[in-house]
Amino acid sequence: MIDGRLHAERVPLEQIAQTFGTPTWVYSRAAIESAFDEFAAACGSRSALICYAIKANSSLAILELLARRGAGFDIVSGGELARVLAAGADPGKVVFSGVGKTVSEMRDALKAGVRCFNVESESELVRLNAVAGSMQKLAPVSLRINPDVDAGTHPYISTGLRENKFGIAHDRALAAYRTAAALPHLKVMGIDCHIGSQITEIAPFLAALDRLLELVDQLTQAGITLHHLDLGGGLGITYRDEVPPSRRDTLQALFARIDAWAQQRGRAVPEVMFEFGRSMVGNAGVLLTRVEVIKENGGRHFAVVDAAMNDLMRPAMYEAWHDIVPLQAGHAPAQTYDVVGPVCESGDWLGRARTLAIEEGDLLAVMSAGAYGMAMSSNYNTRARGAEVMVDSDRMHLIRERERVTDLYALERRLPAA
Ligand SMILES: *Cc1c(COP(=O)(O)O)cnc(C)c1O
Repeated sequence: MIDGRLHAERVPLEQIAQTFGTPTWVYSRAAIESAFDEFAAACGSRSALICYAIKANSSLAILELLARRGAGFDIVSGGELARVLAAGADPGKVVFSGVGKTVSEMRDALKAGVRCFNVESESELVRLNAVAGSMQKLAPVSLRINPDVDAGTHPYISTGLRENKFGIAHDRALAAYRTAAALPHLKVMGIDCHIGSQITEIAPFLAALDRLLELVDQLTQAGITLHHLDLGGGLGITYRDEVPPSRRDTLQALFARIDAWAQQRGRAVPEVMFEFGRSMVGNAGVLLTRVEVIKENGGRHFAVVDAAMNDLMRPAMYEAWHDIVPLQAGHAPAQTYDVVGPVCESGDWLGRARTLAIEEGDLLAVMSAGAYGMAMSSNYNTRARGAEVMVDSDRMHLIRERERVTDLYALERRLPAA
């Protein structure tokens, strides 16, 4: 807020809405860079790689910013591989995660020369070995272990429990590593985990780390040496009143545990990698939207806005809470509103029971929308997706044009005339 007007860095959000229309996503370059810098500073001079999990927000402009700063990238599809390469990232800093990599995705990643495949099943090991063999290459692998720890987060974003589809069960890991070590076209590099998202305590990260270190000990005894530990992402942000640990405290707690473990065993400290998505971009973005209609039904007041669940799916999907803030103090009387979109679903809401002094035509910012916002959007109801703008101090850059409706059916074909 500057002079009662909401800004992104030094640009009034109202000016962005006037220039580019609504709905529009706005990101702050400084906020993204400072999130990355905080992680990087916590690593100091140790051997570490901070990857950005690009599925949180895969905008080329964001990838480019982070690549220039030295970030690595965590990808989960061939599409994301194409994106990071298009953004000019170093493939040697890319790790490839995901439970269902196809042969052609494996081939593309091997051709590009990614740093590591985070493998999630024995079947994938066998498949990757065959693909690498057919290309006369050696595929670097890490096994994603399911440490069976409860991240204490929403069930849909919890990934480290035994019954989730992710990773290789802890008690199967040793056998899987033996398989990997015996396959001629694989090179065992490391071990990884990713236990969930929007985690707001350090304890689950430490519990998962302990489970990995136990395995590293067993592997050492079995004669399998690892070069790196990849502890995944998942650090939470503040949407409402959550108080997640700082980026620095989280990394330092993990490093302290790793250092003590290495020292006890008289071994070198392994390289450590992370794959943060939400905590890199979540608080760096907002979604601008305009109030189209104010109405009352059965005693409830609704503010129908021009952004909807197809734009920001998190409230409909996880009942996620995003703050909703008018861009300027209005003169309308305050009222309790459900802020909803125009999509034909009762689940289409952005915020419920919000006290707002607004009238039709007012502009609102949906806060903390930088992660899993645009990246999860769809064209449901044939709604064109909004523009994306990056603010850099007092400048604004259009980084993605608003979609045109004709784009939405450009790939469709009519049937021949009957
Ligand atoms: C989604 C994902 C991440 C990033 O999670 P955040 O909660 O956004 O930090 C990291 N690693 C893997 C394998 C993922 O699937």
